[in-house]
Amino acid sequence: MAVPAVGRIAPTPSGHLHLGNALAFGAAWLSARAASGRVLLRIEDLDAGRARADVATGQREDLEWLGLHWDAEVAPQSTRQYPLDGIPAFRCLCTRPTRLYLGCRCRAKEHDKGAWRFDTPRGLVEFVDRTRGPQRFSPDEDPILVRADGEAAYPLAVVIDDHRDGVTEVVRGGDLLAATATQLRLYEVLGWTPPTWLHVPVLRGPDGKKLSKSHGSTELRALRAAGWTAERVWEVLGPLLGVESLEPAGFRPERVRIGEFLVADSGAVFGPLEASAAAPVAG
Ligand SMILES: [Zn+2]
Repeated sequence: MAVPAVGRIAPTPSGHLHLGNALAFGAAWLSARAASGRVLLRIEDLDAGRARADVATGQREDLEWLGLHWDAEVAPQSTRQYPLDGIPAFRCLCTRPTRLYLGCRCRAKEHDKGAWRFDTPRGLVEFVDRTRGPQRFSPDEDPILVRADGEAAYPLAVVIDDHRDGVTEVVRGGDLLAATATQLRLYEVLGWTPPTWLHVPVLRGPDGKKLSKSHGSTELRALRAAGWTAERVWEVLGPLLGVESLEPAGFRPERVRIGEFLVADSGAVFGPLEASAAAPVAG
């Protein structure tokens, strides 16, 4: 019997949700619902310095407004533990420039302090993106898993969280496509079954930068204040996801667009930034 689908919406409460978040979360919701699956909400508040409880509250309101209802909210990252059990790792004392220009020899030194780095098995990692097809990337070279101050880093936290939460499908922004390789290496060494992967287009503001809280006019609360309805948001974003509205029955992963798109300050105008029909294959 097939495992029931479990998707997740995982906002970082460092800024209000914008159209780029809506695109990724909408795709995650559509994908799970199209498979009659569950949707979990997980607040990714690892970065204690930037995470704000009031922003998380506003994000829940925005998600409800968008119609992206979730079945359960799981424990936020700030309340979880991220042990390195079973993961080959070593402590590293290098600064960024020393590591870059002189190379890191910490693996052999067994330091008793410093950040923990993943002793990443080398070689290309292959996986299938449900929209983009077969992908091939080299994992990052020994990324940090636990910072020197003891705080877990994103690649470790997201893998442990998705496994513990029983997530079967990860749907997120295309900027994280290559990072999938490192995460798959972690699944491998831990002996865990990885989820499936789907990466949606990256949205960029008029300045060419990935949409973020600095593009305030594309925040959902700003659009709402300007008279937008949730239906309007899905009319604008739907074509990027291959749907006409937030209706799971019509969702097909292979219809999700590939590439990058421009969002004007008004939030209303889109144009493909590049006609990259081919899936990027790096390595
Ligand atoms: Zn080092």
